Amino acid sequence: MPLPEMPEVFDSLEAVVIARFGAGGALLYGNAGLLRVCADQGRAAWDLFSQPRLDALARVPPDARWVVHRGRLTLGDMHGGEMRTLTGTVFASDGEMLVVAGYDIDEFERSSVLMLELNSALDAAHRDLIRANRELARREAAIRELSLTDALTGVGNRRHLDENLAAECERARRYQQPLALIILDIDHFKRVNDGWGHEAGDQVLQEVGALLRACRRRSDTVARLGGEEFVVLMPGATALQAEQAAERLRQAVAGRAMGKLPGVTASLGVAVLAPGENGGSLLARADAALYRAKQGGRNRVVSAAADDRGGAAP
Ligand code: GH3
Ligand code: MG
Ligand code: MG
Repeated sequence: MPLPEMPEVFDSLEAVVIARFGAGGALLYGNAGLLRVCADQGRAAWDLFSQPRLDALARVPPDARWVVHRGRLTLGDMHGGEMRTLTGTVFASDGEMLVVAGYDIDEFERSSVLMLELNSALDAAHRDLIRANRELARREAAIRELSLTDALTGVGNRRHLDENLAAECERARRYQQPLALIILDIDHFKRVNDGWGHEAGDQVLQEVGALLRACRRRSDTVARLGGEEFVVLMPGATALQAEQAAERLRQAVAGRAMGKLPGVTASLGVAVLAPGENGGSLLARADAALYRAKQGGRNRVVSAAADDRGGAAP
């Protein structure tokens, strides 16, 4: 008895694969489901059935209802390529074969549950990654901050000054704004160490650092150059403003509440960036002014002349 004709309603079903083969494996009928499965495989529908193979089923004697296989049908290439496992029945009669197979609903549901779980695991992993990235950025910022900070006094270090000096010189040149620099050096600091001990000297340095930080404007950079020498870089400050700021600092150091620590004074050199000048030259001119303040008797502010450019202290 021949296999039944395929009703038209089968044609458009996509979740069900219906295929009918003639003798020798020629495809006599394939519905939308079969076309869908075939589309990405690039080979004959007959060869698409890899487990069990239709060649093998063609040799199986059909039962009373023309069934030669009932159960799982694996479609696709076992050795790479997309695989699909369907559940269905294969009928054979008169050399023709009919395959009717659909997606296994239980398996489908299991895989959608698995998919949901995977998705939420992925979401959680994504959130963890974002959190870890944020933490990493925070630590990086903290490490960078630390690498630019003088450990004893908490103000910036030489590196911090070098970075900001270069950037501020460039900014001052581009926007034609003034840029002032103050160098402060504690007077006779060696005597503090000699007379009161190194630890007291350290505490004085910390106090002077704190004082400089308290006095600076937001845009100012305070850094310890090394030893008992500090720098305040003041973007936007004119010579007069920087001199006034330096004088306030001098008074603040000299008038510092002493407590158990020795009183100290400081000498300060002030310079304002000249047209075409670089940071190194600005620093050298402020240093030359500081040298003159020392020579002039200490505990005073001296401004660099614009023309003693690059004149370093001997
Ligand atoms: P001047 O008025 O000419 O600046 O004299 P000065 O004694 O301050 O200058 P000098 O350069 O002769 O001595 C600076 C001293 O600062 C010598 C050094 O032992 C001390 N010093 C440098 N770094 C530190 C530090 O981190 N802690 C302490 N306690 N002392 C330091
Ligand atoms: Mg000194
Ligand atoms: Mg010094």
